[in-house]
Formats: sequence, C-alpha cells, structure tokens
Amino acid sequence: MKALQLIQPKEFRYVSIPEPSAIKPDEALLRVLRVGICGSDYAGYLGKMPFYSYPRIPGHELCVEVLAVGSDVRNVRVGDRCAVEPYMNCGRCHACRKGRSNCCEQLKVLGVMTDGGLTETMVLPGAKLHPANALAPEQCALVETLCIGAHAVNRGALQPSETALVIGAGPIGLSVITFAQLSGARTIVLDLNAQRLDFVRSHFGISDVILADDQAVARLGELTGGAMADVVFDATGSHLAMAKALEYAAFGGRVVYVGITQQEIAFKHAPILHRRELTLLGSRNALPPDFTRAIQLIADGRINTQPWISQLVEFEDAAGQIPLWAQPDSRVIKGIIKL
Ligand SMILES: [Zn+2]
Ligand SMILES: [Zn+2]
Repeated sequence: MKALQLIQPKEFRYVSIPEPSAIKPDEALLRVLRVGICGSDYAGYLGKMPFYSYPRIPGHELCVEVLAVGSDVRNVRVGDRCAVEPYMNCGRCHACRKGRSNCCEQLKVLGVMTDGGLTETMVLPGAKLHPANALAPEQCALVETLCIGAHAVNRGALQPSETALVIGAGPIGLSVITFAQLSGARTIVLDLNAQRLDFVRSHFGISDVILADDQAVARLGELTGGAMADVVFDATGSHLAMAKALEYAAFGGRVVYVGITQQEIAFKHAPILHRRELTLLGSRNALPPDFTRAIQLIADGRINTQPWISQLVEFEDAAGQIPLWAQPDSRVIKGIIKL
C-alpha cells in the first residue's frame, strides 16, 4: 500500500509498504480518512524538529475508520469513525501510573518518534481510539489539535471570573483561545501579526487584541484596569516571547507554556516571578478525557470548526502541498490531507 515518507529533511517520497497483516487482541485495523498537518510536521519537514528521525511517515492528527478489532477491544466497533490519541505511552512509568499518559517518560508520538498516518491503513491500540461518528471527517481530524488547547486551559485552571491572555494566534493559540472562551473567562489575544489578530477578531469574536510591540504591556494594563492577566498562555514557542509572557501576568497569576523551544528562557526572578508569586506550568499533549470532551463539543456545535479548515488536498498532492504550507507566509490555518 501507498505511504508518504519523509526520507530526510525537505524530501518527501511516496513509498510502497506492506499491508498490516495480523492484529493483536488489544489492537484495531484502521483505514485512514484524513490527516491534519501541523507545526510539528512542518518542523519535521524542515529538519527543525527535536526527537525526529528519518525516514519517517508523518501524521498524528488523524481521522480513521475501524476495519477490524482484536478480541479485547471494547470501546470501538467495525465501521466507527474515530479520532486518534497519538501519544503512545508505556503504561508502567511513574507518570503513567499517576494517570499522566500525556507525559509518559517513554512517550512516542505517532508520526514523530514512530511512523504516523500518511498511509492507507494502520494498526493502533484500540485504547487510543475515540469514536466520533457524529463528526465530519475534517472535524474529526481537528480533534487532536483542539485537545492541546483543552489540556492547556485545564493546566491553567482558568476560572470564568478570570482574564486569560493568549500569546500567539497560530493553530495552537487558536485551540487555547477556543477553550479559554468555553471556560467563560474574558480572553485577550496578543500576536506580532496584525492579520492574525484580524482573524481572531472576525472568526473567534475576540474584541480585545493587542499587537506585540513595545506598548503591549501597557496596553494589557489599560484593558485590565491595571490587574493584568490571571492566566497567560504562551503558544509561540519563541524563547523571547516565553520570557516576556511573565510580565503580562497578574499578581498571583499563572503562566502556561504550551509552545515549545530548545532555547533557554531567561527572566528576572525577584521583580517578576517572586514579587508576583507566579505559578509557571508546562503543558504537553493532552489526556484521554480531553478527546472525549472535544468530540462532544464539536458534535454539540459548541466549537465552530469552520474557521479552522482552510485547505483540503488529496493524498497524491500532499508531497507537493505540504512544503508550500510549511512556508512562513503561507497563511494556512490547518491543512488536511484526504486519503
Ligand atoms: Zn499536531
Ligand atoms: Zn509511561
């Protein structure tokens, strides 16, 4: 069967790989319907992704159809359309035993550390499948991206009476914005790019936006009566923005790092973190209940997926299209491959 493999940075090739033969009792055989392409895929393509090895079949934002299930699989049936939780955890480490499967010590993310979904069929543990029969295939492929935001907002324990500041209005930022709004909190968005701010204004109904210039801290002060943001979410992955993020936090506030960087992050302790007694939190991947919740919210029409789905291309065009989407000026929100 056909798969799309990244041979090395910046080189895609369609390859023929063997069909999956047998499935274990806890596994399911799946037909891939849609694959969402995200920042980590672009980073893998560009050779900028840590933990990424080549050759690799990318694809972790998946909508699949169940073709067969092993004898122990109870949560899905043949014919079900499912979103995939692409975090392959060991189930035995300290984090897994504490229910933190999203940050398993041995975590392997599909399409990053192990081959992913840009292939016709695949085999996965049944436990990683979340039925989403009420969703259109494109909506189903968005579930994982949305779960990143759901988990981050849970990490920040954002309350309806609070103010959230989301820094960075790319796809991860949009998923954080979505769940910050659903929490009932006032949500303010900051970005370097005025077009992205226009996008969240018109498609997400965000009225309070701030352009990230040297007046941004003062501007947030004006918008919040001097209080600043109770919870600041960084969705930029820029070490400079991540350091600056603490300056937007209210006294007693929380800062959640959702974006990732390999750089050191430098900030002043006494005047910034200590004086305000800030809580700094990491946020990695998502947990199984985030998937159930995101699927239900889409099915109930409480998450509008319309603004997300900007591009849909056929599998045979993916090798040509993904490099174009990876360009910084492509303005694609979420490219989706149809298999
Ligand atoms: Zn992704
Ligand atoms: Zn583990």
